[in-house]
Amino acid sequence: MELPPELNDKFNDLVSRYPVKRSALIPMMMYAQDQFGYLSDEILDEIAKRLDLNILQVTETLAYYSMLRRRPAGRYHIQVCTNISCLLRGGNELYQHVQKRLGIGNKEVSPSGTFSLEEVECIGACTGAPAMQVNYDFHENLDPDKVDAIFEQLQDGKTPKPEPVTSGALHERLKAEIPIISKRFGIRDSRKIDTYLQNEGYQAIEKALKQMTRDQIIDEMKKSNLRGRGGAGFPTGMKWSFVPKDSPKPKYLLCNADESEPGTCKDRPLMEMDPHQLIEGMVIAARVIDAHQGYIYVRGEYRYVIDILDAAIREAYDRKYLGKNILGSGFDFELCTHTGAGAYECGEESALMESLEGKRGYPRIKPPFPATVGLYGCPTVINNAETLSTVPAIVRMGGDAYAALGVPKNGGTRLYSISGHVNRPGIYELPLGFPLRRLIEEVAGGIRGGKKLKAVVPGGSSCPLLSADEIDVAMDYDSVAKIGSMLGSGGTVVLDEETCMVDFARRIMHFYAHESCGWCIPCREGTAWLRKMLDRFHEGAGTPEDIPQIDELSKNMLGRTFCALGDAAALPTISIVKKWRNEFEEHLRGKCPYAPAEAIVGAH
Ligand code: SF4
Repeated sequence: MELPPELNDKFNDLVSRYPVKRSALIPMMMYAQDQFGYLSDEILDEIAKRLDLNILQVTETLAYYSMLRRRPAGRYHIQVCTNISCLLRGGNELYQHVQKRLGIGNKEVSPSGTFSLEEVECIGACTGAPAMQVNYDFHENLDPDKVDAIFEQLQDGKTPKPEPVTSGALHERLKAEIPIISKRFGIRDSRKIDTYLQNEGYQAIEKALKQMTRDQIIDEMKKSNLRGRGGAGFPTGMKWSFVPKDSPKPKYLLCNADESEPGTCKDRPLMEMDPHQLIEGMVIAARVIDAHQGYIYVRGEYRYVIDILDAAIREAYDRKYLGKNILGSGFDFELCTHTGAGAYECGEESALMESLEGKRGYPRIKPPFPATVGLYGCPTVINNAETLSTVPAIVRMGGDAYAALGVPKNGGTRLYSISGHVNRPGIYELPLGFPLRRLIEEVAGGIRGGKKLKAVVPGGSSCPLLSADEIDVAMDYDSVAKIGSMLGSGGTVVLDEETCMVDFARRIMHFYAHESCGWCIPCREGTAWLRKMLDRFHEGAGTPEDIPQIDELSKNMLGRTFCALGDAAALPTISIVKKWRNEFEEHLRGKCPYAPAEAIVGAH
């Protein structure tokens, strides 16, 4: 098959990035789909040929990823998010409006082929909810008028201006904030290397590569009490120290930028506004573990972020911060981006590695752990994008000084993305241990419309929910764990008194049922079954016996699955049944007390 020259070059570039050709499979399919609108038999055959795969290997991978299509989409593919943060700010109503306006339903294409529509899971625009994407462009803080204006422009053949930056990431600094990793947000041309260099950029790399030993850097990381910002909170310095020094195999450093946990959108602005900070953090981490190849795995929806990262990587190569003999230190490190293709499960570290190897994103059984057997069977460290972005600051200021910004065992600052029913949704950098009450009332400006608080998701959709009388808690890993929840990804979602908790539980379960990879039965069957029960309940067709059964089914999933997705689905559900059982009982009277029946839509 003869390819357009640009795509041919892109394919060649992608194949050259990996020691194993198959790793290029998913990116090749994504870029081919961008070119042709879908993946035809012909292009799949061409990809298979170039990667020495058979067509079954290609199609079995393809079938796993929700962004990959076998049928043409419209010229403008509209994706409307109805997940939790959007749900709370009118995402369902917005989706209905778009449906009416386009005259097509979910996964349908308009007769002219101009538009296609898809109701999607969280797109990482939680602080700008409700939001949608037109192809890869983000449009946030939408209402029907804004949506109409966007479609009018599209129908006139114009390109509506996408949001320049994640809504809520740019705001006037509040007194409570301590900008460490967000300090360059809002600076003109912040993503350019010259701006970075003028603002402390690449100072840490000089120090780490020329003045410090690997063990000294690990010591500083341990002193800093930096814990992984992806959700698990594992100490970063300790993770790095697990990589065997004497392994003869190559070592890999992976950045997990697959942020897909509903309510979480803090890695997106970090990469969009300060890509060099992440690159610098990766070079330092790579030097510590002696990795000479790194990949930034970015969720497929963030295509414009990948373009920004690619441009920054090229700049870093030009200035010798990447490549051979970095700054004359004798250390070599190659770095490139890798696109995902729509699978929440690939945020799990071993599933991410499977995906990076060009396969379905099924998690691996552990042990062995990635530090010894990771990507291509080699020692691998995988850190979240925010974690790696924090490394330069720690090297510059020293571990003790960084740790002192937070609380014991929870060092420094982190980005909290706060969304839902608050007056000032946004992304704020605050110290670990910051009080949740102040985060809601002072930083985020309190509850919208003067209403009362009902519930809080403290750190992404997989966390048990807190009730209004549990918000006097410090936002650090240990304090939130003590009251039975998790700090998680720092994606805080706030629910006001008029939120239907049954509907909220139902929407969360739709997400996990959709994202279950299906490998283990408790998760695959449990999430599907719970989704059905919660739907039925919310439609007013539940029975008194359903309530304990929802609780029991969820508890039966806990700890019985290969990866944490089973727990992630069960934990919020258990907490909602326990704390808001009365709302389930109210639904037994036949109607949701919080919403008109026609509002019971959403979730594909
Ligand atoms: Fe897959 Fe769910 Fe099992 Fe994880 S828990 S391996 S997502 S089926």
